[in-house]
Amino acid sequence: MQHITLTFDNGPDPEVTPAVLDILHKRGIKSTFFVVGRQLAACRAPAERAHAEGHWIGNHTWSHSIPFRDRGDIDFIQSEIDRTQDEIGTLSHPDRLFRPYGGKGRLDGSLNTEAVMHLAKGRYTCVVWNAVPGDFDNHNGWVETALPQVATIGWPLVVLHDVHKQAMQHLDRFLGQLQNSGVTFEQNFPPNCIAMCRGHETELLGRGVVAS
Ligand SMILES: [Zn+2]
Repeated sequence: MQHITLTFDNGPDPEVTPAVLDILHKRGIKSTFFVVGRQLAACRAPAERAHAEGHWIGNHTWSHSIPFRDRGDIDFIQSEIDRTQDEIGTLSHPDRLFRPYGGKGRLDGSLNTEAVMHLAKGRYTCVVWNAVPGDFDNHNGWVETALPQVATIGWPLVVLHDVHKQAMQHLDRFLGQLQNSGVTFEQNFPPNCIAMCRGHETELLGRGVVAS
């Protein structure tokens, strides 16, 4: 591991997102916040701050409730993707970043054929992940899971969540250990975590991401 990319999903949260932004600022790290549309509608200020501070804002569905493997109709897809993109508005990254909801880090079937067609039409860039240390379940022990996990990956793209206050109290310790080990933080995404690039399907998409 030489490079590592951080992403924060499921926010924004009025309390936790600003605390995460403070830590990233202190450490000079830029990341991406994949926001949930209905959260953003309720609490926009932290996303505006993140954007102003050079972080990227991506789309992480409107309701974060049902993976596309379990509900694939076009009305649902449109409301999950487009409604969130409208809410993001001018905060959007130019490549229209989208991250599907897989359910506890599950990647297979996080998209379906209809969703892929819809993302292609909208020229979205679909960003998945390769490291899920489970901060959502293990609020106090995720750093001890994350450090050995990322050490085995050439270029880890880590999914964390700026919604659990307790879990994010360990963020600074995690980043400090990584910085001490000489890792470089990279805002860009590892190519093997891109399932669609500005509407074009990549090789990754064929490997189980799309529900059959
Ligand atoms: Zn999520």
